[in-house]
Amino acid sequence: MALIDVHGRKHDYLRISVTDRCNLRCVYCMGEEGIEQMSHSEILSYEDIIKVVEAGAELGISKIRLTGGEPLIRRGIVDLIGKIASVKGITDLSMTTNGILLPRYAESIKKAGLDRVNVSLDTLNPDQYHRITRCGELQQVLDGIEAALALDLQPVKLNTVLMKGINEHEIIDFIKLTLEKPLHVRFIEYMPIGDHDRDYRDHYLPLSFVEEQAEQAGLALTAVPLPGGAGPAESYTIPGSKGTIGLIHPISKHFCDTCNRLRLTAEGTLKACLYWQDEKPVRPVINDKKALQELIKDVLAGKPVEHQMAADGMCGSVDPGKMRGMSKTGG
Ligand code: SAM
Ligand code: SF4
Repeated sequence: MALIDVHGRKHDYLRISVTDRCNLRCVYCMGEEGIEQMSHSEILSYEDIIKVVEAGAELGISKIRLTGGEPLIRRGIVDLIGKIASVKGITDLSMTTNGILLPRYAESIKKAGLDRVNVSLDTLNPDQYHRITRCGELQQVLDGIEAALALDLQPVKLNTVLMKGINEHEIIDFIKLTLEKPLHVRFIEYMPIGDHDRDYRDHYLPLSFVEEQAEQAGLALTAVPLPGGAGPAESYTIPGSKGTIGLIHPISKHFCDTCNRLRLTAEGTLKACLYWQDEKPVRPVINDKKALQELIKDVLAGKPVEHQMAADGMCGSVDPGKMRGMSKTGG
């Protein structure tokens, strides 16, 4: 069984936001006061998440990513990982995390069946990290990355959102991280999601800037296959290094034609595209596997050929404030 949309794209990947809550307040993701949190009863239960995973796996979903909000702050996350890992057909289980709690959880999540992690890190400067996240301590994330490497939660990828005036002077330092360690640094373009339109307009930088900086520094980026298989990044390495450099351009060179993912939001709605307002709740059909599978197919049938950031060019006519924030949808 395969989930193929009307544009011929095969979908085998489900990203699940397990919570909208977070222990950080990154400037590009949330306001200073955080988000208006959902109550516990609004958040989809683990039991229901498993039902969606089982229904999806029978339709051809084989890859799951847990995200949020911060997935490691939801109580019982290790048990959820164990349950998803044992669903027939799921062959790749990963997590996107800010890494703060990785030193504490890396061992138990690995044992429970998590294959790998992506850790978000936008600066290597402790003060700047505190400013970007509004409260985080850089050393905790660095320790988390070391824990992930030591426990073989690999390939360990770093997600680095490029922001003009904030971290563009650190591009070469991030690239150099890949020389000594098997880290896969992925630069990501700032997206106009949530109610941060002004901030977005002030700080967006296309990723061609990364290529220019590497060239100026005399670093030859050589194209290589993506670590861990398919994905939206263009992947490069510096000959002789242990890691890779990825470029994810959702705005300047979007990758919608190869999109293979569906999303389950923290409150239990299915979305076929991150930057599209349409979504459908799973709760009304959660106890009827056939109906749930029809819902998944229905959501896929409505998937746009490309997201509105691309369709409209930058923010275009879309009101970013009307889009569900990243922490609710799951980045
Ligand atoms: N809390 C976890 C973390 O930060 O890794 C998982 C959730 S977070 C929403 C997932 C990813 O979305 C992070 O890598 C973050 O940098 C990215 N993200 C959030 N808002 C973004 C924006 N406006 N533009 C680009 N990436 C964004
Ligand atoms: Fe939290 Fe991740 Fe959003 Fe930062 S990007 S505020 S860590 S959910």
